[in-house]
Amino acid sequence: MTQFCHDLRNLKEGLCTIDKSQQGDLSKEWKINKEIDKLVEQNNYYKGHIRKPLFDMIPLNHWVPDELHIMLRITDRLWSLVIAELTEYGLFNDTARKIIVEEMKRIKVKFQFWQIQESKTWSYTSLMGNDKIKVLQFFDLSKILSRQRANMIRNLWNKFYELYIKMKDQKTNAEEFQNDAKNWLTLFLTPSEGIPNTQGFKKGLYKPNDMTPYIHVLVHHVSEFMTIHQKWGLKSFSCSAVEKKNHQQVSYFFRKTMKDGGRKSKSSAIIEILEHENRSLFYNYHNVSLNSQKPHKIHIKAENN
Ligand SMILES: [Zn+2]
Repeated sequence: MTQFCHDLRNLKEGLCTIDKSQQGDLSKEWKINKEIDKLVEQNNYYKGHIRKPLFDMIPLNHWVPDELHIMLRITDRLWSLVIAELTEYGLFNDTARKIIVEEMKRIKVKFQFWQIQESKTWSYTSLMGNDKIKVLQFFDLSKILSRQRANMIRNLWNKFYELYIKMKDQKTNAEEFQNDAKNWLTLFLTPSEGIPNTQGFKKGLYKPNDMTPYIHVLVHHVSEFMTIHQKWGLKSFSCSAVEKKNHQQVSYFFRKTMKDGGRKSKSSAIIEILEHENRSLFYNYHNVSLNSQKPHKIHIKAENN
């Protein structure tokens, strides 16, 4: 077993000894340079590491970042940067939210905003992988941003989508991928030109501080893993199947809780889900026909306060 899903501590603590202040420096190359044995011997051997490694038997280069999580997390960041920009210019209002929801509807993504009562901050539907890809590919940013600004960000999103496709393609050349990923980061970090509020000012894109650990992994370590694990391709380590399962189970749970009016059950959610699955599997294997078990579509909607 060489890989694990979800935001592993490995990723937070980093695979190499890069410092946050060096994140935006594109002239440097970063390779995995931490050794798990050093961390086992001394838990705080590297800066930022405090606790005992979770999987101390696995060398760090045997841990594979999967393309799904890279896509999910980076898309989240790209989206939240757009929302932050609207907020910064005082444009994140009811009208904008309505336009966003309508645009989501156009691209067939179920999406809602709701306000958290205590903090008055706005929250929104957390999207499943497929929906995130739709947003990344098709959301028309010119509906909420100036045409010029929308084009600039759309270009960044498109290029990220291309990287995602390449990441999934076993034929992708590792060196070329690294080059493409670096070019993408250069674009992400496009600096502003001129003086704000004066003529000729050209607003850039984002700052090194806007980067996430996943962006660093995408640019510096994915190609490394491509070389190490070329035999199988990164795709064979993909977490998509596990995520799908997780979604199905969560969907079942919400459907059930809503059906019985949120009745509190004695057993925990996870046990209920597993018991339900066991029953379904039993019926399935024994060919019992169940009229009431017809699959039907369900939609999870967040409560709109
Ligand atoms: Zn690194």
